[in-house]
Amino acid sequence: MPLNTLESLTVDATRLANELDQLATHSSTPAPSVTRVLFTQTDLAGREYVRSLMADAGLEVIEDPAGNIFGRWVGSEPSAPRVGSGSHCDAIPHAGKFDGTVGVLGGIAAVRALRDAGYEPRRSIDIIMFTSEEPTRFGIGCSGSRLMGGAMAPAEVAVLTDEDGISFDEARKTAGYDGDLADVVLADDDYAYFVELHVEQGPELERRQLDIAVVSAIAAPASFKIRFEGKGGHAGTVLMPARKDALVPAAILIAKAEELARNSGSNDTVATVGMVDVHPSAVNSIPREVTISFDVRDTDLATRERIVDALIDEAKSLAEARGLGFKLDMINSDPPIAAAPEIKQAIEESCDAAGLSRCELVSRAYHDALFMARKVPTGMIFVPSKDGISHRPDEYTSPEENARGVDVLARTLAKLAC
Ligand SMILES: [Zn+2]
Repeated sequence: MPLNTLESLTVDATRLANELDQLATHSSTPAPSVTRVLFTQTDLAGREYVRSLMADAGLEVIEDPAGNIFGRWVGSEPSAPRVGSGSHCDAIPHAGKFDGTVGVLGGIAAVRALRDAGYEPRRSIDIIMFTSEEPTRFGIGCSGSRLMGGAMAPAEVAVLTDEDGISFDEARKTAGYDGDLADVVLADDDYAYFVELHVEQGPELERRQLDIAVVSAIAAPASFKIRFEGKGGHAGTVLMPARKDALVPAAILIAKAEELARNSGSNDTVATVGMVDVHPSAVNSIPREVTISFDVRDTDLATRERIVDALIDEAKSLAEARGLGFKLDMINSDPPIAAAPEIKQAIEESCDAAGLSRCELVSRAYHDALFMARKVPTGMIFVPSKDGISHRPDEYTSPEENARGVDVLARTLAKLAC
């Protein structure tokens, strides 16, 4: 199928905006906020709406045992590895209407635009709505794409438990998703390419007044907790030489995290201590037990690991020097990924063909693409976020900006699927 048919490609910006508005009505908090937590009634209603849009666009609707939804446009060579695109429709409490949804409804809009332009794919194209990109209910993000990419074993995902004691396995079955979770894991040749359209969630495109960002890499967090166990006591009667205060080494470690991240030699390194848990937490009592959480991110795995290792070493020597107990709890450590060069090139050429301005950006938040990249050459397209705001009711990307992203996505899918 010659790509010159795409000269007539047009995206219906108003229709997509209306669909995003319609999806946002499926929320368990009042507008303008959007709250759609995995397998709640609002999530199920949102899923129903997404399936109806897929069917309306002539896509074959397929669901896997984890609740990932696929809208398949069957190509002329159905056995060839497919091209995937998509994102998520779940929303953290009091979020907005564009995070994730633009990649799902925009993917469906891209298919409509390609059909209207007369394009016919050789490879089948799947528009995917991934199950729970947000960690709200089960504490871990991207459960659908993690399973697909083989980043987490089905047995581990099955036993994740929400705060009411309901397991992922029970929740998905109650929502109507039966079958073996092992069937969710992708085979190496299921997909040839994956490309995700998403709002930037940062200020760069707006600041530079550009239409599109071609994502070069996705940063990924290593998160872990460190616990110091000291000796409690009266703040007046225990003299300094006898103290085993668990908070002081934690404070030194927090400062160390900042120093290491600032001096890593890369702009992309960030380190955050967002939680400090002090026991017994009383003004006149020596801290006996302290747990601090670390979140270290980078686009370069070696730099991130160097910092994580340095922090753990420092923690151990602080504990040893002060005669304190020490415990490390590694929560996750996903490798960052670089975008596939052939997909970046396809996106760049698509921007040029559509007459849109562009730059390269690193994705500082992680996305389903991070886990698809474990199995499939992957890329991402960003559209602007007003004031860089996201995960808030006032997150905003205009209908025209979203339509430009869909235009580039459609052209990119056409290149990859031909
Ligand atoms: Zn998202």
